[in-house]
Amino acid sequence: MAEAALDALRERLNRFHALNAAAGVLDWDMETRMPRAGAASRALQYGAVLRAAHETLVDAQTLRLVDALAPRFSRADDESGDAALWRWAERETRRRRLLPAALVEDLARATARAQDVWAEARAKSDFALFRPELERVLALKRRQAEALAPAGDLYYAWLGEHEPGLTTADVDRLFSQLEPGLSALARAAAARAPSARPPALSGRFDVARQRVLGEAAARLIGFDFSRGMIDESAHPFSCALSLGDVRLTTRYDESDPFSNVFTVLHEAGHGLYEQGVDPALADTPLCGGATMALHESQSRLWENLVGRGRPFWTAFLPRLREIFPSTSALGLDEVLAHVNRAQPSFIRVEADELTYSLHVLLRYDLERRLLSGALRVAELPEAWNAGMRARLGVTPPDDAHGVLQDVHWSAGLFGYFPTYALGNMISVQLYEAARKARPGMEECLSRGDAQPLLSWLRENVHRHGRAFSAEQIVRRACGGPISAAPYLAYLRGKYAA
Ligand code: ZN
Repeated sequence: MAEAALDALRERLNRFHALNAAAGVLDWDMETRMPRAGAASRALQYGAVLRAAHETLVDAQTLRLVDALAPRFSRADDESGDAALWRWAERETRRRRLLPAALVEDLARATARAQDVWAEARAKSDFALFRPELERVLALKRRQAEALAPAGDLYYAWLGEHEPGLTTADVDRLFSQLEPGLSALARAAAARAPSARPPALSGRFDVARQRVLGEAAARLIGFDFSRGMIDESAHPFSCALSLGDVRLTTRYDESDPFSNVFTVLHEAGHGLYEQGVDPALADTPLCGGATMALHESQSRLWENLVGRGRPFWTAFLPRLREIFPSTSALGLDEVLAHVNRAQPSFIRVEADELTYSLHVLLRYDLERRLLSGALRVAELPEAWNAGMRARLGVTPPDDAHGVLQDVHWSAGLFGYFPTYALGNMISVQLYEAARKARPGMEECLSRGDAQPLLSWLRENVHRHGRAFSAEQIVRRACGGPISAAPYLAYLRGKYAA
């Protein structure tokens, strides 16, 4: 009887997962290949598939099966795969059953439309064009939060979509540990004269060659192209459709060959996580990154701890010189100084390691004010610019370099931004634990072999998929809780000098 119930539950959960992956294909296509004239119909398609996924997860039969299996799996110390799957189902059905299916569909439609308009508004730097779309999405997101947290922490309703297990109070505590030290370091860096751009980087860098360079960077860190690909989009992202189909996007800047390299390292970091999940979890809801903070810890680890380090560039600089002979005079120390310069700038995804999290703190603050009603969408561009001045000391020249730069709010991804700063913290904790466990890993990396680091991450993070929370995975791998202290110490060591 119990086996039959478990099989029936598994079948329903896997159908939910398959429908979500199908929505992922629609979203991928929408952001990379779809003609704009397809946008209105795509919004309907996207809404229909996500509604079907939602209804599969929270219908009476699934809820009955979750309840029936509770006596067998509700012991927290049961580490079997079946118990992990049941715990995921219990948590997600408890949360999502509070959402009306019509709201799920409306939100999916509104975000599909808003992303299309956002791309145009960003290209034209025209916030007025985007404003009604954002107002519509925000109104639906507020209804969603009220449905999920009728009496409690509204922001957690958003945060919990991306970071289950961490409360708003946890994020506040971690950010209050981070912010004073980070702001002081950033102010000191801003006061130093900006380093000059190396002359070898002043030319034009052909996009076709940049594509080859980006793929070489992804291959060096271990991204498996037989189970993945890189495409192009307005805002880079990654999307895992299955263990055998992990997709990344990048974008190219003809004046800067590093922008694409770091974007690819970031997105391939997400991709490595998805490619590294235990094949036993394939095509189940446990197949994927545990939380977005843990996901961003992987992307930021490869982008920063690896990608801005001496071992990586020792191995990779010859490839850059070979693909762009105009850089053949560029020395290793010159590259390292260039990719590690810290100066306040407008665009988060291109920000240096030091100022990056300040962009995140600004968005976290704005989101909470939008949710409480203290800030209206119409006031957002001005509030954004005021926040940039206060935190980074710079004023964006236009809204494309300000409030319109990120895709997240158009996509309904409120509550997501904090996971970037949390990911930064975790990335340093994991990298240090890996270095302790694999003392020769940087030596190997400087010869172009990322396997010692990658295999440690596979063993300690990737293979678990969603079987554990971010906090559990960090405690097991690093011997302590998620903390801002190692990240701040790392930044001090790098930038205080
Ligand atoms: Zn990311």
